[in-house]
Amino acid sequence: MSSLMEQNYLTDTSQIPETSHWDFVPTVIYCSAYGVQTFDALQQALFKLHAYIILKSGDIIAIKHFLNLKGHNSIFPCHSCKVKAVHGLGKIYYVPLHPPSQDCHERTLYQAAPLQHHKDFLNITERISAAKTKTKKAKIAKGMGIKGLPGLSHVRSLDYTHSSAWEWFHLFLKNIILNLVDFWTGQFKELGPGIEDFEIAPEIWQEIGKETAAAVWHIPSTFVCVLVNIANDHSLFTVESWCFWFVHLSPKLLEGCFLKCKYYKHMCELVEIMKITLQFHTPHKQLDGIESHIIDWVQKYEKYYYQYDIEHLLACTLTIHRLLHVVQGI
Ligand SMILES: [Zn+2]
Repeated sequence: MSSLMEQNYLTDTSQIPETSHWDFVPTVIYCSAYGVQTFDALQQALFKLHAYIILKSGDIIAIKHFLNLKGHNSIFPCHSCKVKAVHGLGKIYYVPLHPPSQDCHERTLYQAAPLQHHKDFLNITERISAAKTKTKKAKIAKGMGIKGLPGLSHVRSLDYTHSSAWEWFHLFLKNIILNLVDFWTGQFKELGPGIEDFEIAPEIWQEIGKETAAAVWHIPSTFVCVLVNIANDHSLFTVESWCFWFVHLSPKLLEGCFLKCKYYKHMCELVEIMKITLQFHTPHKQLDGIESHIIDWVQKYEKYYYQYDIEHLLACTLTIHRLLHVVQGI
């Protein structure tokens, strides 16, 4: 057992940071490095059970703390690729595929942003550790979007770029769908439709709300428990409500409600992406296909909602960018 410990794990607990925002870190390191006495009923003997963390998922804030990142408002806000954010009109950074310009030649595509690797992450943290002054450390952290080694750096089974995916339900159900509904109802950060026509007329949205509330009487609660009038108040919607409403009801309820069919088609394409990425088994071939679909969906999203206009740059949230890494997470 000791050779296994030496081979795989940290054995010197003096290296564990004394203060950490991850209170459970010492426990995790202890469990994985030294094991926990466990009874083997077949052998009728005690053995040391080791636990390896290989995956941690969470929302934007959880992953930020887990990986010790600067956060979504930094120049390099994505821990999976080296996409460089651009300034909006204020101090907030955004990550569009195309910078705000009508010139196609100036646009940089997602494929051009190289993926981040575990060793890149380590190189940056080594540079921060080696920097002699606080100012120099802060400068590297600001430039690279990484504050230092993660709290769980002693757990060697973790790959910082591949072990930490954003949770599906946070990404789709608590961010992207809500933002789309806000766009359609003219409530997205007081941003108007610009040169597009994606807003749904209030009276039509009221009808959609009534039909949503009426639908629940005919649906067993096994499928969805809460489904209220989405037009009056959707604060009661749970993530389950959003998932059911968007995937199963919106393709029927919103058909013919937009001034131009392209917004409805775009919405249905997202429904298909969600269905495929929810499958328990996805063949590799299908993953390649879905990755192309997602890139295509994000490009259309930028065209319709951001319109390459600096005033609409706030449509390009990090959650939209993270869609491009969903397949990588699978
Ligand atoms: Zn990225």
